[in-house]
Amino acid sequence: MSIETFISLSTINELNNIINNRKKRIISEIWDKYLRQDGISIDELYSRYLNYNKVKIKVKKQKNDKTLISNYNPDKCMAKLWDNKTKQYYQCSRNPKDEDVSYCMTHIIKRNYGSINILTL
Ligand SMILES: [Zn+2]
Repeated sequence: MSIETFISLSTINELNNIINNRKKRIISEIWDKYLRQDGISIDELYSRYLNYNKVKIKVKKQKNDKTLISNYNPDKCMAKLWDNKTKQYYQCSRNPKDEDVSYCMTHIIKRNYGSINILTL
């Protein structure tokens, strides 16, 4: 069983701070009781065991359609199709229904793979 949940970055960083503060208290107690007289620096212990790096998330850029559609032709139907053999999108090769419409009769209503986004071409 898996549970999917969304946690905000600020919550993750807040939890990280709580854990770090708890660790810091434990480290300083151990240092005070056992390590202080040996001349070990408490700052070194902090830097070794505490993690103050904030969690950052990289957002993946979406692949743009230009790289995916090799046969683009502005005069043809703007429906995007999927070729299962080449594993690539391609443009429908039929002519649009009429000048005011960008799709052929087949794709004027139903487009399983969406449309070619001209802005990304
Ligand atoms: Zn079409």
